[in-house]
Amino acid sequence: MAAELKIQHETDNPFHIARQQLREACEALNLDLSVYEILKEPARVYTVSIPVKMDSGEIKTFIGYRVQHTDATGPAKGGIRFHPDVTLDEVKALSMWMTMKCNLVGLPYGGGKGGVVCNPKRLSKGELERLSRGYIRAIVDVIGPDKDIPAPDVYTNPQIMAWMMDEYSKLVGRYSPGVITGKPLSAGGSLGRSEATARGCVFTIREAAKCLNLDLGNARAIIQGFGNAGCTSSRLLSELGVTIVGVSDSQGAIYNPDGIDPIALAKYKAETGSVKGFPGCQQVDGDALLEMPCDILVPAALENVITGSNAPRIQARIIAEAANGPTTPEADEILHKRGVMVIPDILANAGGVTVSYFEWVQNLQNFYWTADEVMQRLEYMITQAFNKTYAMSQEKNVPTRLAANMVSLERIAQAMADRGWLN
Ligand code: GLU
Repeated sequence: MAAELKIQHETDNPFHIARQQLREACEALNLDLSVYEILKEPARVYTVSIPVKMDSGEIKTFIGYRVQHTDATGPAKGGIRFHPDVTLDEVKALSMWMTMKCNLVGLPYGGGKGGVVCNPKRLSKGELERLSRGYIRAIVDVIGPDKDIPAPDVYTNPQIMAWMMDEYSKLVGRYSPGVITGKPLSAGGSLGRSEATARGCVFTIREAAKCLNLDLGNARAIIQGFGNAGCTSSRLLSELGVTIVGVSDSQGAIYNPDGIDPIALAKYKAETGSVKGFPGCQQVDGDALLEMPCDILVPAALENVITGSNAPRIQARIIAEAANGPTTPEADEILHKRGVMVIPDILANAGGVTVSYFEWVQNLQNFYWTADEVMQRLEYMITQAFNKTYAMSQEKNVPTRLAANMVSLERIAQAMADRGWLN
């Protein structure tokens, strides 16, 4: 197996990175070669064109993707990203990471992911609704509560999920809230879903701090990205006594060693559209922010922001990956050598899909849970995934990302073997 599993050179292509991580985990577990052979390609890849009537009256065609990585452990599950830089290889990587994430937590799903190449910030509400409905019309035959269950991701939100659920329900002729998660409460959503990614992330930071003997009451955090995950994580961290010293978004970055009030900042961003210019802070460069003094760094935006070039200068003791794929393999190696504790994306941001799972269960049963029930189950599942990952990394003396992938892959490989896929 070792010859087959040769490590490639660093590349920015997230799909190559995802594959490399898969390969390393297969090798570390000494798995049957067929496991890698089956999982290295997504089971199904769909590319669709979505003609949308713009407010001007003209028709504009958008490109969308849906990738179902595997159904070895259940129907495909994963979000839909609306972003101008979406590529098919990115969506393929994200679908593979969803497989690893769902299995790390023990959810009965395989991985999936979707993306539409668009800039939602430049679309009117009507255009966004027509695009969202058009995307569902294009993929209606391949999704469903027992086939593939989408959810929000970068630049998509509960309103978009509600339109998508509505469109799907109309097309199939029955109310089908279980086709998509991350919906508003009125449309079959779950209590706690909108905060779930951040809550899960903060649970993992709490556990990591225990392992490192880091007192959160004296800790400082930098948050890169101030969308749903970044904004809510900064609030929850400050509730635990952590001082938020730096925040950035796509427009700019701010730093204040005395602390930034995340609630006031969220209000400021809602009014001005960015964290840039928030009073009382030093305005800094977004890349430079990652290297500024802090104990906890939370990348909560996009891929490939922690690289071989900035990893040697990162000062944080804990990196909690609220984003998917923020750290390149080269950076991983450097951080591991430097003793920085990386809480890998498939663990740090697994809270979102975990409560998506709870939402789907509630939809299928038509029986809804209290906020406390959601929160307790989330805490249990994320803490357990953290403990398994940490134990694997200690026992095998491997980096935490590899450990998380190993825990996950053991479960996937077992299902593949039991289902007769490896004979
Ligand atoms: N987009 C989120 C993720 O990357 C949530 C996916 C889901 O809830 O299905 O994990």
